[in-house]
Amino acid sequence: MIKYSYFRIKNRPTVTFRELNLSTQLLNALDDLGFEIPTLIQQQAFSPVMSGKDVVGIAQTGTGKTYAYMLPILRMLNYSVQQNPRVLILVPTRELVVQVVDEIEKLTTYINVRVTGVYGGTNINTQKQAVSQGLDIVVATPGRLYDLAVSRTLQLKSIQKLVIDEVDVMLDLGFRHQLMNIFDILPQQRQNIMFSATMTDEVDQMISETFVKPQKISVAKSGTPLENIKQYGYKVPNFYTKVNLLEHLLSDKETYHKTLIFVGFKKIADRLFEQLEQRYAEEICIIHSNKTQNYRLRSIEQFRKGENRILIATDVMARGLDIENVSQVINLDTPEYPENYMHRIGRTGRAEKEGVSYVLTTKKEEEYLDDIESLMEMKIEQLDIPSIVEISDRLTPEEEPKIKEINNPHKRPNDEVGPAFHEKKEKNRKVNQGGSYQREIKKKYKKPKTKGDKTFNLKHKKRKKR
Ligand code: AMP
Repeated sequence: MIKYSYFRIKNRPTVTFRELNLSTQLLNALDDLGFEIPTLIQQQAFSPVMSGKDVVGIAQTGTGKTYAYMLPILRMLNYSVQQNPRVLILVPTRELVVQVVDEIEKLTTYINVRVTGVYGGTNINTQKQAVSQGLDIVVATPGRLYDLAVSRTLQLKSIQKLVIDEVDVMLDLGFRHQLMNIFDILPQQRQNIMFSATMTDEVDQMISETFVKPQKISVAKSGTPLENIKQYGYKVPNFYTKVNLLEHLLSDKETYHKTLIFVGFKKIADRLFEQLEQRYAEEICIIHSNKTQNYRLRSIEQFRKGENRILIATDVMARGLDIENVSQVINLDTPEYPENYMHRIGRTGRAEKEGVSYVLTTKKEEEYLDDIESLMEMKIEQLDIPSIVEISDRLTPEEEPKIKEINNPHKRPNDEVGPAFHEKKEKNRKVNQGGSYQREIKKKYKKPKTKGDKTFNLKHKKRKKR
């Protein structure tokens, strides 16, 4: 999984638009709109987008995310008469194209910027005409954009900034292939900005394939969890103790009659399934993206109907799952992205029914728990692990402590070397002089065997002449 530098904004005082480095024209447009205070995502996104780095924003519609990327982009866009667009904004639907164009137009009342929206399902010739007049920003759905680019009506060679908005929806709609085709015809040197409402394996994979060291910023539309979900947590030392705790909880069949267990990764989901299967074989099913469509549908159906009372799922599978009366959501791991936690627990407590959720947290995951709690602005009640649950000391390969490479020449200065390490062996104390083969040959024959050492040959000749 890709690692992001996480831009934190906790306890940061509210700023006004005037305190951001905006032009007078943009400030005037914001004044006209009656917007004074940037939303959280707008505050967070401004500097990273301005810095030119790749940026990943996790935010839903309604958080002000469009202006979060548009304000810094417009701040940096200079006046130009060139034909080809410099900013490309990809969105999944034509409604969104219209909406984003409209938002940009409102922001650019006092700036000379040419914006055009293109989308499928309408006459391509009208759009060809529109783009042939020259433009700075193009807002598009992927299919139509690709058609225009392939027909060379719209040249993408000057694109400096690519924004992909609602990328999770785009991938859900099957645009992955089209996006990849578009990336291929864009200039390599460009800033990538992506917004998604949720972080899924698919989104994460796309980022790692396309982005360079992205900076992640993240907000949730509403930090308040559904009021009809009771949330609890357990601090658990490791995976196998988590399994023991789960086995214990699930033994109460009446209470845990329709339990959805979330696991971040497919591999861990399979591992958990193997463990729980030993005791709950007839009652458990699993879904993740490596399972076939049929297998997944069957699992969901069995769970929905109550034939299986336990379902293990990864985050990507949980989206769109609308299953009635889930009695508990159990988070086997504490999600790194707080929004995923919100999505997970939202599977219970639906339709006014009271739901219960548990989150299991290891020491390593505690910082994620902090992020979740600060997003929700509330603490999750921690319960004691029942004494009947065995605390396991067995570790998974991922949990095994990493061995530090003390002899690595690229070692960072503050890598500590523990007392358990022995002195260097005699043979390792020698200084590496490089080119050992040639040195040995030289010693043996008193002259190089390769043509390389010209100075040796010269010195040798001179000596011979004397
Ligand atoms: P979005 O999340 O981009 O779909 O924006 C949601 C709505 O919030 C849009 O109607 C925007 O015009 C509006 N909006 C964006 N930024 C602000 C702001 N700083 N203050 C108030 N409303 C805003």
